[in-house]
Amino acid sequence: MRTLFPALLLALTTIVLPVLANDGDILEHIRQHGQNSRLAYELVESLTTEVGPRLGGGENDARAREWAQAMLKKLGFDEVHTEPVTFPRWRRDVESATVVTPYRHTLAVTALGGSGPTPTGGITAEVIAFDSLQALRQASKKDIQGKIVFVNQAMPRHKDGHGYGQTVGARYMSSQIVAEKGGKAVLIRSIGTDNNRLPHTGIMKVSADKPGVPAAAVSIPDAQLLHNLLARGKPVNVHLKLGSHWDGEYTSANVLGDLRGEEKPDEYVLLACHLDSWDLGTGAIDDGAGCAIMMAAVAHLKALDLKPKRSIRVLLAANEEYGLAGAKAYAKAHAAEARKHVIGGESDFGAGRIYRFDSHVQKQAFGVMDEIARAIAPLGITRGHNQAKGGADVSRMKALGMPVVDMKQDGTNYFDYHHTANDTLDKIDPEAMAQNATAWALFAWLAANHEGDFGWFESTQHDP
Ligand SMILES: [Zn+2]
Repeated sequence: MRTLFPALLLALTTIVLPVLANDGDILEHIRQHGQNSRLAYELVESLTTEVGPRLGGGENDARAREWAQAMLKKLGFDEVHTEPVTFPRWRRDVESATVVTPYRHTLAVTALGGSGPTPTGGITAEVIAFDSLQALRQASKKDIQGKIVFVNQAMPRHKDGHGYGQTVGARYMSSQIVAEKGGKAVLIRSIGTDNNRLPHTGIMKVSADKPGVPAAAVSIPDAQLLHNLLARGKPVNVHLKLGSHWDGEYTSANVLGDLRGEEKPDEYVLLACHLDSWDLGTGAIDDGAGCAIMMAAVAHLKALDLKPKRSIRVLLAANEEYGLAGAKAYAKAHAAEARKHVIGGESDFGAGRIYRFDSHVQKQAFGVMDEIARAIAPLGITRGHNQAKGGADVSRMKALGMPVVDMKQDGTNYFDYHHTANDTLDKIDPEAMAQNATAWALFAWLAANHEGDFGWFESTQHDP
Protein backbone atom coordinates (compact mmCIF):
# COMPACT_ATOMS: atom_id res chain seq x y z
CA MET A 1 0.00 0.00 0.00
CA ARG A 2 3.02 2.27 0.35
CA THR A 3 2.95 3.41 -3.27
CA LEU A 4 -0.82 3.80 -3.47
CA PHE A 5 -2.33 7.26 -4.08
CA PRO A 6 0.97 9.23 -4.00
CA ALA A 7 -0.66 12.26 -5.62
CA LEU A 8 -3.05 12.62 -2.72
CA LEU A 9 -0.57 13.16 0.07
CA LEU A 10 -0.52 16.91 -0.37
CA ALA A 11 -4.30 17.22 -0.49
CA LEU A 12 -4.68 15.35 2.77
CA THR A 13 -2.39 17.51 4.84
CA THR A 14 -4.29 18.68 7.90
CA ILE A 15 -5.46 22.24 7.72
CA VAL A 16 -5.35 24.38 10.82
CA LEU A 17 -7.99 27.06 10.79
CA PRO A 18 -8.63 30.12 12.90
CA VAL A 19 -11.80 29.95 15.01
CA LEU A 20 -14.64 30.75 12.64
CA ALA A 21 -16.64 33.74 13.77
CA ASN A 22 -19.88 33.20 11.87
CA ASP A 23 -21.69 31.27 9.18
CA GLY A 24 -20.55 33.62 6.44
CA ASP A 25 -16.92 32.97 7.39
CA ILE A 26 -17.48 29.22 7.20
CA LEU A 27 -18.99 29.46 3.71
CA GLU A 28 -16.09 31.63 2.57
CA HIS A 29 -13.61 29.09 3.99
CA ILE A 30 -15.34 26.26 2.10
CA ARG A 31 -15.24 28.30 -1.11
CA GLN A 32 -11.56 29.22 -0.68
CA HIS A 33 -10.47 25.73 0.30
CA GLY A 34 -12.54 23.98 -2.38
CA GLN A 35 -11.56 26.19 -5.27
CA ASN A 36 -7.86 25.96 -4.42
CA SER A 37 -7.98 22.18 -4.11
CA ARG A 38 -6.99 19.64 -6.75
CA LEU A 39 -8.46 16.78 -4.71
CA ALA A 40 -11.45 16.05 -6.99
CA TYR A 41 -9.16 15.86 -10.02
CA GLU A 42 -6.62 13.74 -8.13
CA LEU A 43 -9.37 11.28 -7.16
CA VAL A 44 -10.57 10.77 -10.73
CA GLU A 45 -6.95 10.50 -11.86
CA SER A 46 -6.37 7.84 -9.22
CA LEU A 47 -9.53 5.86 -10.07
CA THR A 48 -9.00 5.89 -13.85
CA THR A 49 -5.28 5.09 -13.54
CA GLU A 50 -5.28 2.51 -10.75
CA VAL A 51 -8.59 0.74 -11.51
CA GLY A 52 -9.43 1.61 -15.13
CA PRO A 53 -12.73 0.70 -16.85
CA ARG A 54 -15.37 -0.60 -14.47
CA LEU A 55 -18.08 -2.57 -16.28
CA GLY A 56 -20.60 -3.89 -13.76
CA GLY A 57 -19.69 -7.52 -13.06
CA GLY A 58 -16.50 -7.13 -15.07
CA GLU A 59 -12.97 -7.96 -14.01
CA ASN A 60 -12.43 -4.55 -12.35
CA ASP A 61 -15.70 -4.41 -10.40
CA ALA A 62 -14.17 -5.76 -7.18
CA ARG A 63 -11.01 -3.65 -7.53
CA ALA A 64 -13.12 -0.51 -7.91
CA ARG A 65 -14.93 -1.28 -4.64
CA GLU A 66 -11.62 -1.86 -2.87
CA TRP A 67 -10.32 1.44 -4.24
CA ALA A 68 -13.43 3.29 -3.07
CA GLN A 69 -13.39 1.87 0.44
CA ALA A 70 -9.68 2.50 0.93
CA MET A 71 -10.01 6.04 -0.39
CA LEU A 72 -13.06 6.95 1.70
CA LYS A 73 -11.18 5.79 4.80
CA LYS A 74 -8.10 7.71 3.77
CA LEU A 75 -10.18 10.85 3.27
CA GLY A 76 -11.41 10.60 6.86
CA PHE A 77 -15.01 9.46 6.40
CA ASP A 78 -16.32 8.30 9.82
CA GLU A 79 -18.10 5.20 8.57
CA VAL A 80 -17.39 3.21 5.39
CA HIS A 81 -19.35 0.13 4.43
CA THR A 82 -20.73 -1.85 1.49
CA GLU A 83 -24.16 -3.28 0.75
CA PRO A 84 -24.59 -6.21 -1.69
CA VAL A 85 -26.11 -5.67 -5.14
CA THR A 86 -26.91 -8.71 -7.29
CA PHE A 87 -27.71 -8.49 -11.01
CA PRO A 88 -27.59 -10.55 -14.21
CA ARG A 89 -24.13 -10.12 -15.73
CA TRP A 90 -23.59 -9.02 -19.32
CA ARG A 91 -20.31 -9.51 -21.13
CA ARG A 92 -18.95 -7.90 -24.27
CA ASP A 93 -17.04 -10.14 -26.67
CA VAL A 94 -16.01 -10.02 -30.34
CA GLU A 95 -17.77 -7.30 -32.33
CA SER A 96 -17.30 -6.49 -36.01
CA ALA A 97 -19.28 -5.27 -38.99
CA THR A 98 -18.25 -5.10 -42.63
CA VAL A 99 -19.99 -3.73 -45.69
CA VAL A 100 -19.72 -6.59 -48.22
CA THR A 101 -21.77 -5.08 -51.07
CA PRO A 102 -21.19 -2.89 -53.10
CA TYR A 103 -17.58 -3.23 -51.88
CA ARG A 104 -15.79 -4.40 -48.74
CA HIS A 105 -15.36 -1.85 -45.99
CA THR A 106 -14.95 -2.28 -42.25
CA LEU A 107 -17.39 -0.32 -40.07
CA ALA A 108 -16.54 0.87 -36.56
CA VAL A 109 -19.15 -0.79 -34.31
CA THR A 110 -19.75 -1.72 -30.70
CA ALA A 111 -22.44 -3.96 -29.21
CA LEU A 112 -25.23 -2.28 -27.29
CA GLY A 113 -25.38 -3.25 -23.63
CA GLY A 114 -27.72 -6.22 -23.25
CA SER A 115 -27.36 -7.45 -26.82
CA GLY A 116 -27.19 -11.18 -27.38
CA PRO A 117 -24.77 -12.76 -29.87
CA THR A 118 -25.23 -13.28 -33.59
CA PRO A 119 -25.26 -16.96 -34.69
CA THR A 120 -21.78 -18.46 -35.03
CA GLY A 121 -20.30 -17.14 -38.23
CA GLY A 122 -22.30 -13.91 -37.99
CA ILE A 123 -25.21 -12.52 -40.02
CA THR A 124 -24.97 -11.29 -43.58
CA ALA A 125 -28.02 -9.41 -44.84
CA GLU A 126 -29.27 -6.47 -46.84
CA VAL A 127 -29.57 -3.19 -44.97
CA ILE A 128 -32.78 -1.17 -44.73
CA ALA A 129 -32.60 2.31 -43.22
CA PHE A 130 -35.00 4.45 -41.15
CA ASP A 131 -34.30 8.02 -40.15
CA SER A 132 -36.08 7.76 -36.79
CA LEU A 133 -37.50 5.34 -34.25
CA GLN A 134 -40.94 6.61 -35.24
CA ALA A 135 -40.36 5.62 -38.88
CA LEU A 136 -39.18 2.16 -37.75
CA ARG A 137 -42.33 1.71 -35.64
CA GLN A 138 -44.51 2.49 -38.66
CA ALA A 139 -42.64 0.19 -41.07
CA SER A 140 -44.27 -3.00 -42.35
CA LYS A 141 -43.03 -6.48 -41.47
CA LYS A 142 -42.66 -7.23 -45.17
CA ASP A 143 -40.01 -4.53 -45.57
CA ILE A 144 -38.02 -5.61 -42.53
CA GLN A 145 -38.11 -9.41 -42.70
CA GLY A 146 -34.66 -10.95 -43.11
CA LYS A 147 -32.91 -7.56 -43.11
CA ILE A 148 -30.39 -5.73 -40.98
CA VAL A 149 -32.20 -2.58 -39.90
CA PHE A 150 -30.21 0.66 -39.73
CA VAL A 151 -31.71 3.46 -37.56
CA ASN A 152 -30.05 6.71 -38.53
CA GLN A 153 -31.29 9.36 -36.08
CA ALA A 154 -28.86 12.23 -35.44
CA MET A 155 -28.47 13.66 -31.93
CA PRO A 156 -28.43 17.48 -31.70
CA ARG A 157 -25.86 19.23 -29.46
CA HIS A 158 -27.16 21.30 -26.52
CA LYS A 159 -25.58 22.68 -23.34
CA ASP A 160 -28.06 20.79 -21.12
CA GLY A 161 -27.82 17.58 -23.18
CA HIS A 162 -31.54 17.37 -23.95
CA GLY A 163 -30.76 16.01 -27.42
CA TYR A 164 -29.95 12.72 -25.69
CA GLY A 165 -33.48 12.29 -24.39
CA GLN A 166 -34.82 13.04 -27.87
CA THR A 167 -32.78 10.32 -29.58
CA VAL A 168 -31.82 7.63 -27.05
CA GLY A 169 -35.11 5.80 -27.70
CA ALA A 170 -33.58 4.54 -30.96
CA ARG A 171 -30.86 2.80 -28.96
CA TYR A 172 -33.22 1.53 -26.29
CA MET A 173 -36.18 0.26 -28.34
CA SER A 174 -34.98 -0.73 -31.83
CA SER A 175 -33.81 -4.27 -31.02
CA GLN A 176 -37.22 -5.41 -29.75
CA ILE A 177 -39.16 -3.67 -32.53
CA VAL A 178 -36.95 -5.21 -35.22
CA ALA A 179 -37.39 -8.64 -33.62
CA GLU A 180 -41.20 -8.25 -33.67
CA LYS A 181 -41.10 -7.36 -37.37
CA GLY A 182 -38.86 -10.29 -38.34
CA GLY A 183 -35.56 -8.45 -38.91
CA LYS A 184 -32.23 -10.18 -38.27
CA ALA A 185 -30.21 -7.51 -36.48
CA VAL A 186 -30.06 -3.77 -35.86
CA LEU A 187 -27.41 -1.12 -36.31
CA ILE A 188 -28.06 2.29 -34.83
CA ARG A 189 -26.25 5.53 -35.54
CA SER A 190 -24.31 6.23 -32.33
CA ILE A 191 -26.18 8.45 -29.87
CA GLY A 192 -23.51 11.14 -29.71
CA THR A 193 -22.40 14.50 -31.08
CA ASP A 194 -18.83 13.83 -32.28
CA ASN A 195 -17.51 13.16 -35.77
CA ASN A 196 -14.88 10.54 -35.03
CA ARG A 197 -15.00 6.81 -35.64
CA LEU A 198 -15.49 5.71 -32.04
CA PRO A 199 -18.97 4.21 -31.60
CA HIS A 200 -21.10 4.90 -28.48
CA THR A 201 -22.38 1.92 -26.49
CA GLY A 202 -25.26 2.07 -23.98
CA ILE A 203 -28.04 -0.07 -22.63
CA MET A 204 -30.96 -1.33 -24.72
CA LYS A 205 -34.26 -2.66 -23.47
CA VAL A 206 -34.11 -6.32 -22.51
CA SER A 207 -37.12 -8.37 -21.39
CA ALA A 208 -37.35 -12.08 -20.78
CA ASP A 209 -40.68 -12.39 -22.61
CA LYS A 210 -39.71 -10.21 -25.58
CA PRO A 211 -36.34 -11.20 -27.03
CA GLY A 212 -34.58 -8.63 -29.21
CA VAL A 213 -32.25 -9.08 -32.16
CA PRO A 214 -28.46 -8.57 -31.88
CA ALA A 215 -27.81 -4.83 -31.79
CA ALA A 216 -24.79 -2.58 -32.26
CA ALA A 217 -23.99 1.10 -32.69
CA VAL A 218 -21.96 2.33 -35.66
CA SER A 219 -19.76 5.41 -35.41
CA ILE A 220 -21.29 8.62 -36.74
CA PRO A 221 -19.04 8.84 -39.87
CA ASP A 222 -19.92 5.20 -40.64
CA ALA A 223 -23.62 6.03 -40.24
CA GLN A 224 -23.17 8.85 -42.74
CA LEU A 225 -21.39 6.50 -45.16
CA LEU A 226 -24.17 3.90 -44.88
CA HIS A 227 -26.71 6.65 -45.52
CA ASN A 228 -24.85 7.83 -48.63
CA LEU A 229 -24.36 4.28 -49.94
CA LEU A 230 -28.09 3.55 -49.56
CA ALA A 231 -28.92 6.83 -51.31
CA ARG A 232 -27.37 5.34 -54.48
CA GLY A 233 -30.44 3.07 -54.66
CA LYS A 234 -28.53 -0.22 -54.97
CA PRO A 235 -28.47 -3.00 -52.36
CA VAL A 236 -26.06 -2.59 -49.46
CA ASN A 237 -25.17 -5.80 -47.62
CA VAL A 238 -23.44 -5.98 -44.25
CA HIS A 239 -21.83 -8.83 -42.34
CA LEU A 240 -22.27 -8.43 -38.55
CA LYS A 241 -20.65 -10.54 -35.86
CA LEU A 242 -21.32 -10.07 -32.11
CA GLY A 243 -20.27 -12.35 -29.27
CA SER A 244 -21.85 -10.34 -26.43
CA HIS A 245 -24.05 -12.35 -24.09
CA TRP A 246 -25.65 -12.69 -20.64
CA ASP A 247 -23.71 -14.83 -18.23
CA GLY A 248 -25.34 -15.81 -14.94
CA GLU A 249 -25.56 -13.56 -11.90
CA TYR A 250 -22.97 -11.40 -10.19
CA THR A 251 -22.93 -9.88 -6.73
CA SER A 252 -21.28 -6.47 -6.57
CA ALA A 253 -21.91 -3.84 -3.89
CA ASN A 254 -22.81 -0.23 -3.29
CA VAL A 255 -20.03 1.56 -1.41
CA LEU A 256 -21.14 4.08 1.23
CA GLY A 257 -19.12 6.68 3.09
CA ASP A 258 -20.65 8.76 5.91
CA LEU A 259 -19.54 11.94 7.61
CA ARG A 260 -21.45 11.51 10.87
CA GLY A 261 -23.82 14.25 12.01
CA GLU A 262 -23.33 15.71 15.49
CA GLU A 263 -26.99 16.28 16.38
CA LYS A 264 -29.04 14.04 14.08
CA PRO A 265 -26.66 11.25 13.00
CA ASP A 266 -29.54 9.08 11.72
CA GLU A 267 -30.68 11.74 9.23
CA TYR A 268 -28.84 11.91 5.90
CA VAL A 269 -28.04 14.27 3.08
CA LEU A 270 -27.43 11.81 0.22
CA LEU A 271 -24.74 12.56 -2.40
CA ALA A 272 -24.76 9.95 -5.17
CA CYS A 273 -22.67 8.88 -8.16
CA HIS A 274 -22.04 5.53 -9.82
CA LEU A 275 -18.79 3.64 -9.47
CA ASP A 276 -19.27 1.43 -12.53
CA SER A 277 -18.68 2.61 -16.10
CA TRP A 278 -18.82 1.26 -19.61
CA ASP A 279 -15.80 -0.77 -20.63
CA LEU A 280 -14.59 1.04 -23.76
CA GLY A 281 -12.79 3.98 -22.11
CA THR A 282 -11.70 4.41 -18.49
CA GLY A 283 -15.00 5.85 -17.26
CA ALA A 284 -13.44 9.23 -16.47
CA ILE A 285 -16.39 11.49 -17.25
CA ASP A 286 -19.05 8.79 -16.73
CA ASP A 287 -18.92 8.59 -13.84
CA GLY A 288 -15.45 8.66 -12.30
CA ALA A 289 -15.76 12.45 -12.23
CA GLY A 290 -19.05 12.36 -10.34
CA CYS A 291 -17.69 10.03 -7.65
CA ALA A 292 -14.53 12.13 -7.32
CA ILE A 293 -16.63 15.31 -7.00
CA MET A 294 -18.88 13.89 -4.26
CA MET A 295 -15.98 12.31 -2.32
CA ALA A 296 -14.00 15.54 -2.50
CA ALA A 297 -17.02 17.64 -1.44
CA VAL A 298 -17.29 15.77 1.86
CA ALA A 299 -13.50 15.53 2.25
CA HIS A 300 -13.38 19.34 2.07
CA LEU A 301 -15.73 19.66 5.07
CA LYS A 302 -13.66 17.06 6.93
CA ALA A 303 -10.39 18.82 6.10
CA LEU A 304 -11.83 22.07 7.50
CA ASP A 305 -12.88 20.15 10.64
CA LEU A 306 -16.52 21.15 10.09
CA LYS A 307 -19.04 19.04 11.95
CA PRO A 308 -22.48 18.93 10.32
CA LYS A 309 -25.68 18.47 12.36
CA ARG A 310 -27.03 15.74 10.08
CA SER A 311 -24.93 12.98 8.51
CA ILE A 312 -23.73 13.39 4.94
CA ARG A 313 -23.57 10.15 2.96
CA VAL A 314 -21.76 9.51 -0.32
CA LEU A 315 -23.34 6.62 -2.25
CA LEU A 316 -21.09 5.11 -4.93
CA ALA A 317 -23.67 2.99 -6.70
CA ALA A 318 -23.04 -0.34 -8.43
CA ASN A 319 -23.92 -1.08 -12.06
CA GLU A 320 -25.94 1.96 -13.08
CA GLU A 321 -25.08 1.53 -16.73
CA TYR A 322 -26.90 -1.65 -17.56
CA GLY A 323 -29.48 -2.07 -14.87
CA LEU A 324 -29.60 0.78 -12.33
CA ALA A 325 -28.91 -2.12 -9.97
CA GLY A 326 -27.23 -0.11 -7.20
CA ALA A 327 -29.95 2.55 -7.07
CA LYS A 328 -32.68 -0.07 -6.90
CA ALA A 329 -30.87 -2.08 -4.21
CA TYR A 330 -30.26 1.05 -2.12
CA ALA A 331 -33.91 2.13 -2.19
CA LYS A 332 -35.04 -1.39 -1.34
CA ALA A 333 -32.57 -1.81 1.53
CA HIS A 334 -33.44 1.61 3.00
CA ALA A 335 -37.19 1.79 2.25
CA ALA A 336 -38.10 1.61 5.95
CA GLU A 337 -35.97 4.63 6.80
CA ALA A 338 -36.42 6.41 3.46
CA ARG A 339 -37.68 9.58 5.18
CA LYS A 340 -34.45 9.83 7.14
CA HIS A 341 -32.89 10.80 3.80
CA VAL A 342 -33.91 14.44 4.02
CA ILE A 343 -32.61 15.45 0.58
CA GLY A 344 -30.32 14.06 -2.14
CA GLY A 345 -28.57 14.76 -5.40
CA GLU A 346 -26.27 13.10 -7.91
CA SER A 347 -23.25 14.08 -9.96
CA ASP A 348 -23.43 12.08 -13.21
CA PHE A 349 -23.11 14.41 -16.16
CA GLY A 350 -19.37 14.56 -16.73
CA ALA A 351 -16.87 17.09 -15.48
CA GLY A 352 -18.13 20.37 -16.96
CA ARG A 353 -18.70 23.45 -14.80
CA ILE A 354 -21.98 23.85 -12.95
CA TYR A 355 -24.03 26.78 -14.29
CA ARG A 356 -27.41 26.37 -12.55
CA PHE A 357 -28.86 25.01 -9.31
CA ASP A 358 -32.36 23.44 -9.48
CA SER A 359 -34.34 22.04 -6.57
CA HIS A 360 -37.33 19.80 -6.00
CA VAL A 361 -38.43 20.55 -2.43
CA GLN A 362 -41.62 21.55 -0.67
CA LYS A 363 -42.41 25.23 -0.02
CA GLN A 364 -41.04 25.30 3.53
CA ALA A 365 -37.53 24.72 2.13
CA PHE A 366 -37.53 27.49 -0.50
CA GLY A 367 -35.70 29.76 1.95
CA VAL A 368 -32.79 27.39 2.53
CA MET A 369 -32.61 26.66 -1.22
CA ASP A 370 -32.18 30.39 -1.80
CA GLU A 371 -29.53 30.45 0.92
CA ILE A 372 -27.65 27.63 -0.87
CA ALA A 373 -28.03 29.53 -4.15
CA ARG A 374 -26.45 32.62 -2.55
CA ALA A 375 -23.57 30.52 -1.19
CA ILE A 376 -22.73 29.06 -4.61
CA ALA A 377 -23.42 32.23 -6.64
CA PRO A 378 -19.74 33.33 -6.36
CA LEU A 379 -18.89 30.09 -8.25
CA GLY A 380 -20.83 31.37 -11.27
CA ILE A 381 -23.98 29.32 -10.55
CA THR A 382 -27.48 30.78 -10.97
CA ARG A 383 -30.69 29.75 -9.18
CA GLY A 384 -32.96 27.64 -11.39
CA HIS A 385 -36.45 26.17 -11.00
CA ASN A 386 -38.06 23.78 -8.52
CA GLN A 387 -38.54 20.85 -10.93
CA ALA A 388 -35.14 19.19 -10.41
CA LYS A 389 -35.08 15.60 -11.67
CA GLY A 390 -32.29 14.16 -9.52
CA GLY A 391 -29.87 11.73 -11.19
CA ALA A 392 -30.37 8.06 -12.03
CA ASP A 393 -28.81 6.82 -8.80
CA VAL A 394 -31.19 8.83 -6.59
CA SER A 395 -34.19 8.19 -8.87
CA ARG A 396 -35.53 5.32 -6.76
CA MET A 397 -35.27 7.34 -3.55
CA LYS A 398 -36.96 10.25 -5.33
CA ALA A 399 -39.73 7.87 -6.39
CA LEU A 400 -40.28 7.11 -2.69
CA GLY A 401 -40.69 10.85 -2.09
CA MET A 402 -37.19 12.17 -1.32
CA PRO A 403 -36.61 15.84 -2.25
CA VAL A 404 -33.68 16.32 -4.68
CA VAL A 405 -31.47 18.98 -6.20
CA ASP A 406 -29.65 19.17 -9.54
CA MET A 407 -26.36 20.96 -10.10
CA LYS A 408 -26.69 21.47 -13.86
CA GLN A 409 -23.32 21.02 -15.58
CA ASP A 410 -22.28 22.35 -18.96
CA GLY A 411 -22.68 19.28 -21.17
CA THR A 412 -21.94 20.93 -24.51
CA ASN A 413 -19.13 18.42 -25.22
CA TYR A 414 -20.26 15.57 -22.95
CA PHE A 415 -21.85 13.52 -25.73
CA ASP A 416 -18.72 13.70 -27.87
CA TYR A 417 -17.17 11.18 -25.44
CA HIS A 418 -20.06 9.59 -23.50
CA HIS A 419 -19.98 5.75 -23.56
CA THR A 420 -17.02 5.64 -25.98
CA ALA A 421 -13.35 4.67 -25.90
CA ASN A 422 -12.74 8.42 -25.69
CA ASP A 423 -14.12 8.68 -22.13
CA THR A 424 -10.69 9.28 -20.63
CA LEU A 425 -9.00 11.57 -18.09
CA ASP A 426 -7.64 14.11 -20.60
CA LYS A 427 -11.20 15.44 -21.13
CA ILE A 428 -11.29 16.69 -17.52
CA ASP A 429 -10.34 20.20 -16.38
CA PRO A 430 -9.08 20.26 -12.75
CA GLU A 431 -10.55 23.75 -12.17
CA ALA A 432 -14.02 22.66 -13.28
CA MET A 433 -13.73 19.66 -10.94
CA ALA A 434 -12.82 21.99 -8.08
CA GLN A 435 -15.83 24.21 -8.83
CA ASN A 436 -18.14 21.16 -8.80
CA ALA A 437 -16.80 19.77 -5.52
CA THR A 438 -17.00 23.20 -3.87
CA ALA A 439 -20.64 23.65 -4.89
CA TRP A 440 -21.62 20.22 -3.55
CA ALA A 441 -19.68 20.87 -0.33
CA LEU A 442 -21.61 24.12 0.23
CA PHE A 443 -24.90 22.39 -0.56
CA ALA A 444 -24.16 19.46 1.76
CA TRP A 445 -23.06 21.72 4.60
CA LEU A 446 -26.09 24.01 4.45
CA ALA A 447 -28.58 21.17 3.90
CA ALA A 448 -27.13 19.10 6.76
CA ASN A 449 -27.34 22.09 9.13
CA HIS A 450 -30.76 23.39 8.07
CA GLU A 451 -33.04 23.47 11.12
CA GLY A 452 -36.25 22.57 9.31
CA ASP A 453 -37.02 19.83 6.82
CA PHE A 454 -37.29 19.89 3.03
CA GLY A 455 -40.74 18.39 2.80
CA TRP A 456 -41.50 14.94 1.38
CA PHE A 457 -43.44 14.03 -1.73
CA GLU A 458 -46.11 11.47 -2.53
CA SER A 459 -44.53 8.21 -3.62
CA THR A 460 -44.58 7.74 -7.39
CA GLN A 461 -43.07 4.29 -7.20
CA HIS A 462 -44.79 1.81 -9.47
CA ASP A 463 -42.90 -1.33 -8.50
CA PRO A 464 -44.17 -3.17 -5.42
ZN1 LIG B 1 -23.38 7.80 -15.76
